[in-house]
Amino acid sequence: MTQFDYDLFVIGAGSGGVRAARVAAGFGARVAVAEADRPGGTCVIRGCVPKKLLVYAAHFREDLDDAAAYGWTTDATFSWPTLIANKDREIARLEDIYRTLLKSAGASLYEGRATLVDPHTVEIAARRYTARHVLVATGGRPVRPEIPGAEFAITSDEAFQLAELPRRVLIVGGGYVGVEFGGIFHGLGAEVTIAYRGEQILRGFDDDVRHHLHDELVRKGFDVRLQCDLRTIERRGDGSLAATIVTAGAPQQLELDAVMFATGRQPDTAGLGLEASGVRIDANGAVIVDEYSRSSVPNIHAVGDVTNRVALTPVAIREGAAVATTLFGGRPVAMDHRDVPHAVFSQPPVGTVGLSEAEASTAYAAVDVYTATFRPLKYTLSGRNERTLVKLVVDAASQRVVGAHMVGPDAPEIIQGIAIAVKAGLTKEQFDATVAVHPTAAEEFVTLRDKRAARR
Ligand code: NDP
Repeated sequence: MTQFDYDLFVIGAGSGGVRAARVAAGFGARVAVAEADRPGGTCVIRGCVPKKLLVYAAHFREDLDDAAAYGWTTDATFSWPTLIANKDREIARLEDIYRTLLKSAGASLYEGRATLVDPHTVEIAARRYTARHVLVATGGRPVRPEIPGAEFAITSDEAFQLAELPRRVLIVGGGYVGVEFGGIFHGLGAEVTIAYRGEQILRGFDDDVRHHLHDELVRKGFDVRLQCDLRTIERRGDGSLAATIVTAGAPQQLELDAVMFATGRQPDTAGLGLEASGVRIDANGAVIVDEYSRSSVPNIHAVGDVTNRVALTPVAIREGAAVATTLFGGRPVAMDHRDVPHAVFSQPPVGTVGLSEAEASTAYAAVDVYTATFRPLKYTLSGRNERTLVKLVVDAASQRVVGAHMVGPDAPEIIQGIAIAVKAGLTKEQFDATVAVHPTAAEEFVTLRDKRAARR
């Protein structure tokens, strides 16, 4: 039998790769992990975690404004350098934890860019290692549209490290990163324009969610431009930027301090040597895998954003654990991608699980829809004019709740609990049989009574 240096070589120490490494090592496998940047990957170093810290920071503005109605007198000022320094300290702490996790699992960490020489050989810094199995978990990177002056724009990678808070920001893209960073910059005091090329932000989400969030952003003072394209960016002598945007054929120039591309992410497969090793890659650069995350080369697997399935950290973690269990735990485990809850940490945030109304209307013969909008109790004293949306989508024949959606404070926290019920296939009657927790926003999910048929 061929002797390999390792049983599993993981390329990429992000959420998916590290979980696969730890689970595999737990089954007794000899594991190595290569990381070109910092252990922790996108989520920990330049994604979910630092983003959410900045979202907390931004939300203090509204909290401080509302505090007056509750009897508080505040005189607050904000320091971006303090926020970034504290965030950096926390991220460094988490990076250390990732290193420790790998070490205590007994996995070897190689810091450097790894390439595949052949399906069983990985090269890092001119040294070669052999492995029975290889796991590609290299994640993704932000896309930069090719327009004149694109080099003057930042992406989320750079947004976390800006020396100062820009006063006027144009964000291009109406997806997760666009609305999340829009909320961060706006909350911290910047004037924010979001330019989205399509008809409504958050494509793929339930239409009521999309419209509700759009209206709330506009109400808060965001300048949201729909069907709007960015054409050029120029740098002025004083360091400021001038961007030309075009809405419905009409060009307009904006004076800005920063332009941010939030135009999606692409799988990080370039230069890895995958295709030369026989691994099939799709047109977006994603590794093509089956339900066991196995590529076209049987000993090479891939998990997480590099496979472009559901680009979320908890999904990558599950996929990584499933691969390790399949390879070393003696039990094939396929990842179940149905009913994965999603959250967008916009302000207000979005929580969603299951099907949108439009998707359910295609999947089922008839659909019942229940919605409610209301002002959160917390805002009654302060008079803040922000409304929450909750929505259930029900298959009329079986009465199963097939989709649950919320826009409003704590929506991501609330939807995590609702996701258990949706995943378990519970019916509207079972939701209704659940006693409310009062006074909460979450109770609306068990007190929705006004039914309407789905819009076709
Ligand atoms: P998204 O795909 O969510 O959004 C990209 C946006 O940019 C869309 O509005 C898209 O428009 C637009 N766009 C794409 N290409 C261009 C272009 N060339 N010119 C102008 N506009 C363009 O990507 P994100 O980068 O926001 O996020 C990537 C993924 O990362 C998400 O899909 C999600 O899976 C994950 N993520 C999850 C988060 C969370 O869980 N809270 C937070 C951040 C990211 P169109 O709709 O027309 O395609």
